[in-house]
Amino acid sequence: MGNHKLQVEAIQNGSVIDHIPAQQGLKILKFFKLAQANEKITVGLNLNKKNGLRKDLIKVENTFISDEQANQLALFAPDATINQIKNFKVVNKFKVQLPDAFVGVLACPNSNCISHNEPVNTQFYVNNRNELKLKCHYCEKSFVRSFFNELD
Ligand SMILES: [Zn+2]
Repeated sequence: MGNHKLQVEAIQNGSVIDHIPAQQGLKILKFFKLAQANEKITVGLNLNKKNGLRKDLIKVENTFISDEQANQLALFAPDATINQIKNFKVVNKFKVQLPDAFVGVLACPNSNCISHNEPVNTQFYVNNRNELKLKCHYCEKSFVRSFFNELD
């Protein structure tokens, strides 16, 4: 009771990504190559939530998550919140938002898709927000998230 906030130590400046579904924290670290930036990162896995479920949490020092990154985060954690910390204080807090489209982020799972052979940016439209279904701009096929290697 009352010590949930002490599960991960405070940071002076940087970002805290909270409310990540359990099992997604390490995928997010890998996808955004967060560990390669040489900043101190604290990761909490399988932390207790008040409702009895588990969550992951990531604190990255001296790094501020951009709006574009926040959009991409929604691929892993549609309910995540981002807290920006300056001098140990939360100066900005917002929820990630699933955008209408992802450009240049994901490769098309369809190996026959022309996006693999042409020098184009891949482009996917979100056509089902609940189960996260993405439709390729080029081959017009729709895929659920488990088809994308990048999200694994
Ligand atoms: Zn395609």
